[in-house]
Amino acid sequence: MKLLLLAGDDIGPEIMAPTKRALIRLNEKFDLGLDFEERSIGMEALQAEGTTLPDAVMESARAADGVVLGPVGTFKYPPKEQGGINISAAFRISMDLYANIRPSKTRPGVPSMAKQMDLVIVRENTEGFYADRTMFAGTGEFMPTEDLAMSMRKITREGSRRIAVAAFELARTRRKKVTIVHKANVLKITDGLFLSVARQVAADYPDVEVEDVIVDAMAALLIRKPEAFDVIVATNMFGDILSDEAAELSGGLGLGGSINASAERAIAQAAHGSAPDIAGQGIANPAALMSSAAMLLAWLAQKNGSNALAQASELFIRSVDHALADPVNHTPDLGGPGSTAAFGDAVVAQIES
Ligand code: ATP
Repeated sequence: MKLLLLAGDDIGPEIMAPTKRALIRLNEKFDLGLDFEERSIGMEALQAEGTTLPDAVMESARAADGVVLGPVGTFKYPPKEQGGINISAAFRISMDLYANIRPSKTRPGVPSMAKQMDLVIVRENTEGFYADRTMFAGTGEFMPTEDLAMSMRKITREGSRRIAVAAFELARTRRKKVTIVHKANVLKITDGLFLSVARQVAADYPDVEVEDVIVDAMAALLIRKPEAFDVIVATNMFGDILSDEAAELSGGLGLGGSINASAERAIAQAAHGSAPDIAGQGIANPAALMSSAAMLLAWLAQKNGSNALAQASELFIRSVDHALADPVNHTPDLGGPGSTAAFGDAVVAQIES
């Protein structure tokens, strides 16, 4: 089984290093039979090959059983014509990775604004307000005059159905509650379609409690009573914003793991960006990328019916939680004295113990 590791930009290489070490140790411990391949993307690839996403990397990603993608600094990429490809978007669209699964939970030892929280945001990844995902040709964002900018939002019946199914299936493995987030009071047609399809899907899951909440109320309720939520399903941009809020409530962006998945493929990717402000200092929190890699192992375990992969994933998650439980391991984003490497050492030591 092949895993492709793509370090990405800014803090990417720093947080990929301990993630790779942990994966190598798990591979040995559980005899997973994983082969690792590493390739260059982002600004490094742009300088060497004239594009942030060389064709050969895309081919490797398609051939791999899973990909661990470091954060990418899209903001400083040149226009597409000059090689600046938005790597996350390219993977999500071309591989149809429609489900972005973003868990957030409070953990013993981690200072957090939320007292108690254990939820997963299931975010639709391929349509919504993202203008690059709206059109067959061209972009859904345009400027008819210099004083008028417009963008279009796409919501489809099938896109809404499959993300709702992903949410209800996940809820069945958890506390059996789904919250559908929408703005159907204003976006009556688009979010109206999303909401009605999600409710139809809900009818097939009578064992799962369902509620729907308007997105602005949801932003407030997440702060007021985060413990009330289990699985939250949302369209693309609402899910993106709410998942950053949830990660922050749980302790910080450096904790937000995630995978982008379809039934056939999955890419592990931290929910945060490439954090250029702290790059090169050895202080980035690798917990989010490590948690993402652990989620990828769980996804592979389910796909392949592999106990060893499931055990490796569980041990990985427990080891990250164990390292986070001791404030001495905390990186500065969590208010601690630690470093990226020392946190990695703590996780690897726990895997080996
Ligand atoms: P993007 O639009 O690519 O998601 P962003 O604008 O949300 O990026 P981030 O790169 O996620 O920005 O950074 C936001 C803030 O969070 C920055 O101050 C950054 O240093 C901090 N941050 C993000 N990830 C981490 C991490 N892994 N460890 C420590 N701090 C982080």
